Amino acid sequence: MKSWYFDHASTTPVDPRVAARMSECLTMDGHFGNPASTTHGFGWLASEDVEWARETVASTIGADPRDVVFTSGATESNNLAIRGAFAALAAETGRTRVITLATEHKAVLDTCAHLPPEADVVVLQPTSDGLVDWDALSTALTDNTLLVSVMLVNNETGVVQDVARIAALARSRGALVHSDLAQAIGKCPVNVTTLDLDLASLSAHKTYGPKGVGALYVRRSPEVQVAEQQHGGQHERGMRSGTLPTHQIVGMAEAYRLASLEAEQDAIRMAAYRQQVLECCAELGGIKVNGRHCVPHIVNVTVDGIDAEPLMAAMPEIAVSTGSACNSATLEPSHVLQSMGLSRQEGLSSIRISFGRMTTDEAIASLVACLRRAVNGLRETRS
Ligand SMILES: *Cc1c(COP(=O)(O)O)cnc(C)c1O
Repeated sequence: MKSWYFDHASTTPVDPRVAARMSECLTMDGHFGNPASTTHGFGWLASEDVEWARETVASTIGADPRDVVFTSGATESNNLAIRGAFAALAAETGRTRVITLATEHKAVLDTCAHLPPEADVVVLQPTSDGLVDWDALSTALTDNTLLVSVMLVNNETGVVQDVARIAALARSRGALVHSDLAQAIGKCPVNVTTLDLDLASLSAHKTYGPKGVGALYVRRSPEVQVAEQQHGGQHERGMRSGTLPTHQIVGMAEAYRLASLEAEQDAIRMAAYRQQVLECCAELGGIKVNGRHCVPHIVNVTVDGIDAEPLMAAMPEIAVSTGSACNSATLEPSHVLQSMGLSRQEGLSSIRISFGRMTTDEAIASLVACLRRAVNGLRETRS
């Protein structure tokens, strides 16, 4: 049986062009050296690769290359941004409030939950569309606020927040702004300067790069202080120690370079695919699309009266996800959907379909056919 992949929001395959560049940084005949080795050409070549990657990643997001700190992924970047900024600045500025949104990724929510006890963490509820509630944000934003963290593109619903407006509000109170951009690169235009961000988290594997590498954008002008969260060789301006993985970093940069070249074309194709899926859902009836103002490649739907588990089991050739976390035996509905006001049952009846660069017309035709067959089949057995 042929399997079709519609879970690009959880990870993407590495683009073959990216894999080719990565393999040039691994073996004896390639640039395998330690980029921190300054005493020989092996190190210099690797260092040149890393600096090319830094410039490439920076230019993709409208940053200065010196603002880019390489990490192991967006989870680490979120930790470094939030914990690092709090450790460096809370005592010094007397600001202890950290504001975030209930629809954020767990790497932001759990990091906030584990800040030191003096942190005054405010988790705002979104509107039923998954967007920032402006009144709630204005009320929460006191002069005591150190940091506001809101992602640009939501990984479960595809909802795009008006991060520039959030930043302007935060700025008016002297607060710093962090945004998790893991899902945004290659999906919508991203410019940290226009968005006026201080900190931004990036990941390679959501954008056809390898898993295990990402970056944190740390604004240098005006300079944002971030305390290191692990000790070692003082790499990356002292913010993130550890030998730089040249192949991973070059892979990330090549993936971002391709994303900036191909994003517009990809978006047009994704929008057409989205349209086909939405038309199929409308025709089936009893299906609600979650979120408003979404990127084209993520479609999150609640299928009235049908649980996601049997629905997915009824279309085994289609790989989608629920966005729910399997906590041992109990299936918990997505915290994102619940915070948008969906009931527990609605949460458990929701699936996320996400397309990618390698998705074909044939794959979409199969998806639509399977969805029709599965939903109609399950409805018949119920009635
Ligand atoms: C995938 C993802 C992360 C985690 O990124 P890793 O690089 O896998 O650590 C964080 N935030 C968002 C929004 C994501 O989609």
